[in-house]
Amino acid sequence: MAKAKYIFVTGGVTSSLGKGIISASLGKLLQARGFKVTIQKFDPYINIDPGTLNPYEHGECYVTDDGAETDLDLGHYERFLNTATSQANNITTGRIYNNVITKEREGQYLGKTVQVVPHITDEIKRNVYLLGESGDYDFVITEIGGCVGDIESLPFIEAVRQVKWDVGQNDFLVIHLTLIPYLKAAKELKTKPTQHSVKQLLEAGIQPDILVCRAETKLPDDIRKKLALFCNVQYNSVIEALDADTIYDLPILMRKEKLAERVLTKLKISNKTEPNLDQWKDFLGKLKNPTEEVKIGLVGKYVELPDAYKSIAEAFIHAGAVNECKVDLKWIPSESINEENCQSVLGKLDGILVAPGFGERGIPGKIEAVRYVRENKIPFFGICLGMQCAVIEFARNVLKIKDAASTELDENTKSPVIDLMEEQKKITIKGGTMRLGAYPCTFKRGSKAATIYGKSKIIERHRHRYEFNNKYLTKMEKAGLMASGTNPETGLVEVVELPDHPWFIGTQYHPELKSTVLNPHPLFVKFVRAAIQNSKLHAKN
Ligand code: GLN
Repeated sequence: MAKAKYIFVTGGVTSSLGKGIISASLGKLLQARGFKVTIQKFDPYINIDPGTLNPYEHGECYVTDDGAETDLDLGHYERFLNTATSQANNITTGRIYNNVITKEREGQYLGKTVQVVPHITDEIKRNVYLLGESGDYDFVITEIGGCVGDIESLPFIEAVRQVKWDVGQNDFLVIHLTLIPYLKAAKELKTKPTQHSVKQLLEAGIQPDILVCRAETKLPDDIRKKLALFCNVQYNSVIEALDADTIYDLPILMRKEKLAERVLTKLKISNKTEPNLDQWKDFLGKLKNPTEEVKIGLVGKYVELPDAYKSIAEAFIHAGAVNECKVDLKWIPSESINEENCQSVLGKLDGILVAPGFGERGIPGKIEAVRYVRENKIPFFGICLGMQCAVIEFARNVLKIKDAASTELDENTKSPVIDLMEEQKKITIKGGTMRLGAYPCTFKRGSKAATIYGKSKIIERHRHRYEFNNKYLTKMEKAGLMASGTNPETGLVEVVELPDHPWFIGTQYHPELKSTVLNPHPLFVKFVRAAIQNSKLHAKN
């Protein structure tokens, strides 16, 4: 297609309806017809990015190749579309204002009063067109975070209204995702909240073209008709989105509801080819018909909120499907683990993943968990802080460096086996200053990591300040902890493994960020396989 088409996804009635999944599913259905699609999210909060937000506030912070700290919905976009996103795919109000204020200081608006309309709205639109005019995409799907009617989303909604007049009706479409609640006492699905949220959009000058209606029960015909009538949309533009067993069902459910067909018709695109969803269906088939089951413990600090580990949980779903194995994730708060209870808390698990994290809370429990799995030969996978804990544990219990620590855990430790890099020591501001984004890593020949990836050089994404302290490298390797992956330019240790353990791997990077439905991550795939083998071994004993 010569010009990109712009699709906006707004939300009404309540948050958490799954705009990200609907956007990703639509993207998938368009991509499966051969179109090039990208998905972008606008977040209406003032933080420049979610990098400084507590996971309890915001869930996982997803990191892109170019080192942007972004909303977790970008993870869904990548997992569904199997294409990389970048900073351009996630823009917050804070970033918009920051850009406008920087331009103002540079004198770019000299003589003018800088205002929400047109300056903020122009900056919002510039970020939409940046993707649309790159020539890389047929469709730019832009998800507007929050709910219609929120004070903070107003400038975004106004910008959406303006886009219609910039690009013309045929290249512009709005999908409104809404909730149709069921009132048990009245035994009725209620359309009024949706009517109100559409009215709010209309007040802002936007008529949604398609309604996607989240509901717990099927939408009967009369409800669809009522929604069409009162919300001023065509009857067949009322799309039902029922609760699903897995988010990965959504592209199939949306296909049945003909969401992409409606979009194509409304945008006057006559491509009537059938979407090719063979690989997707193959994945779903395996996901839903497992022949094995394993219990994997996820030891973390934020386990009360599973969204904090979204990409890890999804990577296990992908890896489970490849192995035709149901992965039963057991969420274990790291603070609850100590030397005495390791056996009872961890003993029945087939594999343990020690999760990423920040701050000293929970580190001692993570170190105890590593000791237990190392000594008992249980498959172990440590990610970022999890890998750092594995290094500390090895130093303390194998090298007998009793005070070994990370300087994150103990600033004054005499044995900083994990330490800040020199350049990090000078940094005082917090936002966007970690080692972020894609870095290369080369493997030692014959290492487990090299065999698992089937390559000698890879690129993975990072988000951390602390590193393996290379002063201890020789001692560690002599005692049996192999630094199997290192950064070829800086020599920083990226992967550690124990060659004499069935499966013990720690990565300084975050492999979970690159696992997708079509490309499950090899480390997760092989870790699940190791857990299956371990469970069989136990069954025999
Ligand atoms: N807190 C550790 C660091 O900054 C680990 C970070 C992480 O697990 N993402 O190095």
